[in-house]
Amino acid sequence: MSGKTVMVLGGGIGGVVAANKLHHLLRDDRVVVVDKSPKHSFTGSYMWILNGSRVGSQVEKDLSSLNKKGIEFVRGEVAAIDPDGGRVTVDGKDMGYDHLVVSLGADLDPGSIPGLTRAGHNIYTVDGLTQAHQELTKFNGGRIVVAICRMPYKCPAAPYEAALIIDNMLRSRGVREKTEIEIITWEPAPMPVAGPIMGQAILSMMEPGGISYKPNSTINSIDPETKQVLLEGADPIPYDLLFYIPPHKCAQVVQEAGLTGDGGWVPVDPGRLTTKHENLYVIGDATSIKLPNGKMLPKAGVFAHKHAETVAQEIAARIKGSEAPKPYDGLGYCFIEIGDGTAGFAKGNFYAEPDPTIKASKPGKLLHWQKVAFEKYWFWKYF
Ligand SMILES: Cc1cc2nc3c(=O)[nH]c(=O)nc-3n(C[C@H](O)[C@H](O)[C@H](O)COP(=O)(O)OP(=O)(O)OC[C@H]3O[C@@H](n4cnc5c(N)ncnc54)[C@H](O)[C@@H]3O)c2cc1C
Repeated sequence: MSGKTVMVLGGGIGGVVAANKLHHLLRDDRVVVVDKSPKHSFTGSYMWILNGSRVGSQVEKDLSSLNKKGIEFVRGEVAAIDPDGGRVTVDGKDMGYDHLVVSLGADLDPGSIPGLTRAGHNIYTVDGLTQAHQELTKFNGGRIVVAICRMPYKCPAAPYEAALIIDNMLRSRGVREKTEIEIITWEPAPMPVAGPIMGQAILSMMEPGGISYKPNSTINSIDPETKQVLLEGADPIPYDLLFYIPPHKCAQVVQEAGLTGDGGWVPVDPGRLTTKHENLYVIGDATSIKLPNGKMLPKAGVFAHKHAETVAQEIAARIKGSEAPKPYDGLGYCFIEIGDGTAGFAKGNFYAEPDPTIKASKPGKLLHWQKVAFEKYWFWKYF
C-alpha cells in the first residue's frame, strides 16, 4: 500500500469523473473530493429545466454518496491552495495532499454588468432556469432577448439551445407569432472555434423559426426601468423578457494561488493537463488551452470529463511507477437540444491542425433519446 492522498477540488463534472477513475485505479490510496456544495449538479440536463421536462432536484445528486464507494467527500469551501507546501485550506482547516487535481470550474459573475441581475434571469443556474420556465408558461407575446454577455462562457451551444427551446415552447402555447426572439452576443458567430461550417449549421437551425441574431455586440449595461440592453456603439435593444449568460471568471482561490496566466485562466499542457507545479493538475473550465488555430479550447463538460480521465491515469501511473498513459487527443462531442424531442449532435478533434475538424449530424428524435440515455448513464456510473 502506497498510502498516498490524491485530493480533487470540485465535485462537478471533472471532479466526479477524476475521483471515480482514481478510486478505480488506486484501491489502496485515499481519494478525497472537496466541494462547497453538497450536491453535484449535472448541467447536461439543464436545458430540460427550461422546457419543463426536469426540475432542479432531478439533475442533482448528493456528493456524500461518493463515501459509499470509498471516495471521501469533504463539504467545505476551498479558501487557499499552497502548491509549494502541498496543502489546501478548507473551511479554515489545513489538509495535505500528495497529488492535487483542481476542477473548480468557472465562477459566474453577473454583478460585473450594471443592471444585469435586476433585469433578467440567469439561465446558467438551476434557479434562473426554473424562473425562466415559469415566465415562459405565462408569457403572452413581446420581445425575448437571450444575451451572451462575454467570452469565454461554458457550453458554447447552450444559448442557442435555449433560443430554440423557447421558440418551441411558445409555438406549442400558440404565442410564437406574437413574439420576437433575438440572440445578442459578443462573439462573431455561433461556436467560432469550430469554424464557419458549424456556425452556419447553428444559424440554419434558428432561421426557419425566425430567431434573429446580433453578433459582435458588447453589452455595457442593462436598464431594468426602461427594459433596454445598452450596447457599445449601437442602438439599445428593448426586451420584455431577458435571459442571460453572465460573464465568467476563474475562481478567486485559483487566482490567489498564482496558477492563472495572462487571460485570467490556468495555462496547462493540452495533452497532460500539467501545470508549473509538479503534483498539481488543473482540468476543465478553469484551464486555458490554446489550439493550433490560435483560438481557445471551449469550456465544456466533455472536455472536463476527458481531462479528468487523463489526469487520473497519469497520477495512478506515477504512484504505481507504471508507463505513462497516452495524452488527451482533443476529441470532443456535444448534443444540441432543439426542444420538440429532437436533438442535433456534433463531434470532432479540437486539436486537429490547422483547424478543429468538427462534423455535425442532422437533428433527429434518436439523438434526443441518446442524450436522455447519457444522463441516465452519468448518474449510474458516477453515483
Ligand atoms: C446551462 C448549461 C448547459 C451545459 N450543457 C453542457 C452540455 O450539454 N455538454 C457539455 O459538455 N457541457 C455542458 N455545459 C458545460 C459544463 O457544465 C462545464 O463545462 C463543466 O461542468 C466543467 O466542469 P468542471 O469540473 O471544470 O467544473 P464544474 O462542473 O463547474 O465544477 C466545479 C465545482 O467546484 C465547486 N467549487 C467552486 N469553487 C469552489 C471552492 N472555492 N470551494 C469548494 N468548491 C468549489 C463548485 O461547487 C462545483 O461543484 C453546460 C453548462 C451550462 C451552464
